[in-house]
Formats: sequence, structure tokens, C-alpha cells
Amino acid sequence: MILEEHAPSDSAAAMLDAGADLEAVLAAWHGATLRLEQTHEALRAEVHRLSDELEIKNRELARKNRLADLGQVASHVAHEVRNNLVPVALYLSVLRRRVAQDPTSVAALDKIESGFTSLDATVNDLLNFAAERDPLIARVPLRPLIADLQSSLAPQLAAQGIEMSVRVPQQLAVWADRDMLRRAILNIALNALDAMPGGGRLDLSAREQPDAVVLEIADTGPGLSDDAQRRAFEPFFTTKSTGTGLGLSIVYRTAEAHGGDVTVANQPAGGACFTLRLPHRNAEEIE
Ligand code: ADP
Repeated sequence: MILEEHAPSDSAAAMLDAGADLEAVLAAWHGATLRLEQTHEALRAEVHRLSDELEIKNRELARKNRLADLGQVASHVAHEVRNNLVPVALYLSVLRRRVAQDPTSVAALDKIESGFTSLDATVNDLLNFAAERDPLIARVPLRPLIADLQSSLAPQLAAQGIEMSVRVPQQLAVWADRDMLRRAILNIALNALDAMPGGGRLDLSAREQPDAVVLEIADTGPGLSDDAQRRAFEPFFTTKSTGTGLGLSIVYRTAEAHGGDVTVANQPAGGACFTLRLPHRNAEEIE
């Protein structure tokens, strides 16, 4: 009897213990599930982020490949055109001597020559665009470079009534490919001149920041439309009837080749301002 009385209460205690254990196991299980879910979510977010990053990189790579193909075609066409232009230039000068006494023929020749000059400029743009070379980095003092640019622009500045101001600290220098940098600044300046046919001001300034040298080239023209601001650096984007749309893409490439960047914005008072940033280089990079 006694045994019979004890048996049920023992098993109840055992059941209670088992119930408590089960509850603990379930709580632990629940906790583990929650943690797993959180890890899963975090992993899912990370995979999402990495996939987005990969897609952007793939698009960038595809764009670079397309540009490289385009560069090859451009270079081929430009060389062909240039080779054929050489004899044409020669025959033109022969003709000019022969018809020197005939004003009508001279006027016709002038027209041919001006078309020829703009074709030559297009070919130059194409060759510059296609010239995919690594920059030859050297120390380039900025003042003499800008002075040289200013004097080659002087006739056009005077003809259009444009005042140019330069603010560059005396000793400021950059580590850069001189020719590439000169062409980049020239391209920006020539666009500014195009934007101010009736005169204006061209302001060029440079300053040193802790991590880079920053050049700003600003004009008092009409500035860029929203669309032009977005697409200005795309190859072949132009709003000019005789433009090639390659000038700023060359500037973009130059900035990229120097590890820097170039941006454009309209100034509050009107006119465009281009900012070219060339980061400082350390000794290893220069070697
Ligand atoms: P292009 O001069 O042959 O048109 P670019 O690549 O040099 O080619 O310039 C692309 C376009 O950017 C120009 O056609 C023009 O619309 C715009 N742009 C560039 N610079 C200026 C500027 N200073 N003011 C206004 N628009 C500009």
C-alpha cells in the first residue's frame, strides 16, 4: 500500500522535472532560433550589398571595355584620316600659290582650309582620346605651366574680350604628367572661351589641401543645363554644332589616370566652375 501510495507522487515529480527540462530546452531552442534568424538576416543583407557592389563593378568594367574598343576604332580612323590629310594640305598650299592673283579662288581656298583646320582639330581630339598611356609622372610647378597656357590663349582671349585672372601660390607644384595636365586644363579653358563669345571672365585658381592640389577653372558664361552637367564627361556628348564631345572625356581620363577626379557645377552668380583634384603621391607611387 505504502509503495502503491508513493509510486504516483514520484512519477509526478519526475514529470515535473521533465516538464522543467523541456521548458529549458524549448527556451534554449527558441533563443538559438532567434540568433540564427538574426545571423541569417545579417548574412542576407551582406549578400545583397555585395551583389549590388558586384553589379556596379561589372557595369563599370563593361563601360571600360566599351571605351577601350571605342578608343581602338577612334585611333584607327584618326590615323587613316591624318594620313590622307597630309597630301591634301600639300596640294592646298601648291594651289594657293597658283591662284594667288585670283580673289575668288583664294576665297574658295580659305573656306576649304577652315574646314580642313576643324577636321584636323577633330582628328587631334580623337587621337588624344584614344591615346591610352600611363602618365609620365614628374614634379610640375603650376605657375609656369599656367603662364604658358595663358600666353597661348592670349590672342583668343583678346579677340573675344575675355579677362583672365590667375591665382596660384608661388611654389605650388603637382606630381603629374605635364602634357596630359596641360591638355586637360586647356580643354576646360577652351570650353570656357566657347561659352563666352561676347566676352567675360576666366578665373583660374589652385590651392593645396592636406591630401590634394585642387584647381578651379571658372567662367562667366551661361553655365551648364542639368542634362549637360550630368553628361558633360561622357565621350561624344556635345551641345555644339561643330563639337566632338571628346574634350571633357579627355579631362576625365586624365584625372582618373592621376588618381584624382574632376567635377563641374554652376556658380551661384552664373557661369560654370570645373574642379580638378590631383591627390598627393607618396614616394612609392612616384617611383
Ligand atoms: P565639345 O567642346 O566638343 O562639345 P566637351 O567634352 O569639351 O566637348 O564638352 C561637352 C559639353 O559640355 C559641351 O558641348 C557643353 O555643352 C558643355 N560645356 C563644357 N564646358 C562648358 C562651359 N564652360 N560652359 C557651358 N557648357 C560647357
